[in-house]
Amino acid sequence: MAHIVIIGAGLGGLPMAYEMRDHARPEDRITVIAKDRLFHFVPSNPWVAVHWRTRKDIEFDPAATLARLDIGFIPVAAARVLPEANAVELVDGQRIDYDYLIVATGPRLAFDEVPGLGPQGGHTQSICHVEHAAAAERVWQAFVADPGPVVVGAVQGASCFGPAYEFSMILETDLRRRKIRDQVPMTFVTSEPYIGHLGLGGVGDSKGMMESMFRSRHIKWICNAKVDKVEAGVMHVIEHDEDGKEKRRHELPFKYSMMLPAFKGVEAVSGIEGLVNPRGFVLIDAHQRNPTFRNVFAVGVCVAIPPVEATPIPTGTPKTGYMIESMVSATARNIRALLDGKEPSEKATWNAVCLADFGDSGAAFVALPQIPPRNVNWVSEGKWVHLAKLAFEKYFLHKMKNGTTEPIYEKILLNAAGLNKLRQK
Ligand code: FAD
Repeated sequence: MAHIVIIGAGLGGLPMAYEMRDHARPEDRITVIAKDRLFHFVPSNPWVAVHWRTRKDIEFDPAATLARLDIGFIPVAAARVLPEANAVELVDGQRIDYDYLIVATGPRLAFDEVPGLGPQGGHTQSICHVEHAAAAERVWQAFVADPGPVVVGAVQGASCFGPAYEFSMILETDLRRRKIRDQVPMTFVTSEPYIGHLGLGGVGDSKGMMESMFRSRHIKWICNAKVDKVEAGVMHVIEHDEDGKEKRRHELPFKYSMMLPAFKGVEAVSGIEGLVNPRGFVLIDAHQRNPTFRNVFAVGVCVAIPPVEATPIPTGTPKTGYMIESMVSATARNIRALLDGKEPSEKATWNAVCLADFGDSGAAFVALPQIPPRNVNWVSEGKWVHLAKLAFEKYFLHKMKNGTTEPIYEKILLNAAGLNKLRQK
């Protein structure tokens, strides 16, 4: 019998628990340790922030499903991983021993790296957690009653750009529907070297497509941007040229702002030599396995991957759902191999698929593989993406509530291609 412990029950951790159950031997114990008792579907957070969804629509308690599958559930945060001792210390003092550990803790949001950034003590909103999105929604309701300038984007070191584009378009759609768009100057501020870079070196002609969308929706933009500091109602931004030299300083007034922060690894693993890199992301080999602590694996945003290319202002590489799904499958199979006395052989597929909803339409980005040159480098926009995103949300939540593990992204790719063909007819 082996005890397999998973830390985190988000988009990576919960499917990991289900898939591990499928692949473990009947006698193996599986335990999930989670800071949040409730699972929430992160990709729908932008909709919560404009009240197109409520928090209740996108979260649920996984305890009953986990119990049915005979998976232990401890809804208490991990305080520290002790890899030398094969144990995890929890914030309530419990100590959980493991034979295999899977870290699926997502990111720590590094708001502290920019003065005045973020919803806790700062002046900008966040959509990274459903709690932030619910708080942002209250601020949005006050804003639409008394509108003014909006600034949306992603700061230096950010790696998650798709949701920033998505959110700027969602706000724009919401303002048009309320017939107050004419009262709201909008600016997109990003550390990317150009619009549509996405931390991926662009996908197809994402630059041309996103610039055209911003132009047609009257959204101005600043690229190669470093946010120096945020004060109440003013964002101080330093624009750089392509050599990374300072070009211009902007003082952007705003009445509402949402900026995605840079990510770091969580405190429970940060600084552990051999386990994590200097930013606290878990080091893994091609099989999701830590090279130093060979019984530790990692999946999701918490893993260390290098940037796709150097940019004048630092940008990271996004870790999106398709990639996470394949990391989960590879990890479950590799741990089973070890249980059977074999060597791990499964690798994740480093592909990026992103559906960005714009409220009334959307954009789909497919980069296979993630690092250029690519076999598939495809971007498309239209109402079909909005419909595909709605279907994705419903299907993913259904799958999580039922404890099923079938891969969803291959299906999305097939359906997206089908929907796109239908659209073209
Ligand atoms: P998370 O889903 O954040 O889960 C991490 C879990 O670990 C959380 O439940 C957290 O509570 C728990 N945890 C953290 N610390 C501890 C601790 N110390 N102890 C115990 N538990 C802990 N990708 C797409 O492919 N499509 C999209 O449409 C998309 N939209 C996105 C929208 C937004 C706003 C954001 C921020 C990202 C989006 N992504 C999208 C990217 C990515 O898919 C998500 O970030 C995804 O949630 C990452 O999954 P994860 O499991 O790594 O992290």
